[in-house]
Amino acid sequence: MTEPERAAWTTGPGPEAVFAQRLAAGEFRIQRCAACERHVFYPRLACSHCGSVELAWVEPSGRGVVHAVSIVNRSAEKGGPYNVVLVDLAEGPRMMGRVDGVANDAIRIGQAVKARLGTGAAGEPCVVFDVDAAAGGAGSAR
Ligand SMILES: [Zn+2]
Repeated sequence: MTEPERAAWTTGPGPEAVFAQRLAAGEFRIQRCAACERHVFYPRLACSHCGSVELAWVEPSGRGVVHAVSIVNRSAEKGGPYNVVLVDLAEGPRMMGRVDGVANDAIRIGQAVKARLGTGAAGEPCVVFDVDAAAGGAGSAR
């Protein structure tokens, strides 16, 4: 295929790069399909629901619910145990992250959480979650 025949969506930075660029700029964005109106994450070239390539970047509400949690046992010298969660975003997609601000064993499936920008293990920008007390996410009182 020669250069002019290439469709617009195959040129420029890939969706993963755009996602990372937005994160670096302090913006958490996911994709929304113009054809079926559903949200898509992890970033893709084509909609995972209907195959359309008309994906636009939108700002999610940040609200979500913990679908699964696991604790990774890391030695104390390397920073101690940490949690890895799968969160079902209010918009639909499921994404991996971590919950900050609470003890690992206090994280519950079904707990309401809210996304914000944080820092990954290597100092890279990433999406992390806080317990969303306003949405009934506080589990410590029970
Ligand atoms: Zn679609």
